[in-house]
Amino acid sequence: MSALVSLALHGGAGTILQAEMSPEKELRYRAGLEDALNAGIKLLEKGASALDAVEATVSALEDCPLFNAGRGSVFNALGKHEMDASIMWGADRAAGAVSGVSGIKNPIQLARRVMEQSGHVLLMGQGAMEFAQMQGFSLEPDSYFYDEFRYQQWLKIRDTNSFQLDHDVKTSPLDEKKFGTVGAVARDLHGHVAAATSTGGMTNKKFGRVGDSPVIGAGTWADDRSCAISCTGSGEFFLRGVVAYDVACLMRYQGLGLQEACDRVIHDHLLEIGGDGGLIAVDAGGTTAFSFNTEGMYRARWNSQGMREIAIYG
Ligand code: ASP
Repeated sequence: MSALVSLALHGGAGTILQAEMSPEKELRYRAGLEDALNAGIKLLEKGASALDAVEATVSALEDCPLFNAGRGSVFNALGKHEMDASIMWGADRAAGAVSGVSGIKNPIQLARRVMEQSGHVLLMGQGAMEFAQMQGFSLEPDSYFYDEFRYQQWLKIRDTNSFQLDHDVKTSPLDEKKFGTVGAVARDLHGHVAAATSTGGMTNKKFGRVGDSPVIGAGTWADDRSCAISCTGSGEFFLRGVVAYDVACLMRYQGLGLQEACDRVIHDHLLEIGGDGGLIAVDAGGTTAFSFNTEGMYRARWNSQGMREIAIYG
């Protein structure tokens, strides 16, 4: 079968400048992106579903402390980690998501379990934790999620009213740059697409703040009739712009191509309301696209016709 099989992933968008990245640090990021890409490719090459591929890819990114998801999640206002994740299957638009979960090594795997075992789409906080326990998920100690850099990042703003997007440093008092939220989209041999997104959210977030990442249609979308999307950026704006679904709508109802639809949303619709960030996408034919209105976005993609790309800067 000659159908195009493809995979794309991101590790967050933001003020990522080559001038401020040491070669050693860049290598570590590239290795993290590469490992995650390989985790998904391995499955897709064996004929696995796009759903399995995005789950494996995002799990690998969650296990890498460089990214703001799973192990590398930022600290909230209470000095804890509260994570959000969602996953969607393009064949029937089944979806699952969790918000405000703690101690879970791979929130994306819990999101998938919500999709397949709960009869619901989005579980939050204590209830999501009870569901995780029922499903046999074990809890990691706080030390698993501890990262000295992220702790210092939080200490600098914890007594203020500000919260900090992991990738947004232009307006922050922080002098170092660290980028975050992760996601993957894939198109499998059978023509199905899937998307997955996972994040620790924003440093110093409070009041049960929820971003776009666990919200179907905002941070994640997958529909075999159009595309699969995973977003990263200032979550409040992605929520207000229903960004992932907006791309799918432009394709379905206005006939735009994938890249054109992504650019319209990221460079026009999102900017109109002041949002910054980006997204990765794949359409039903397996074409992939990146779009971002920030200086950079950690990203990678692969397809069965020999494309392989890892990139960071704009
Ligand atoms: N969109 C995520 C959120 O608002 C953050 C990010 O993409 O880095 O929680």
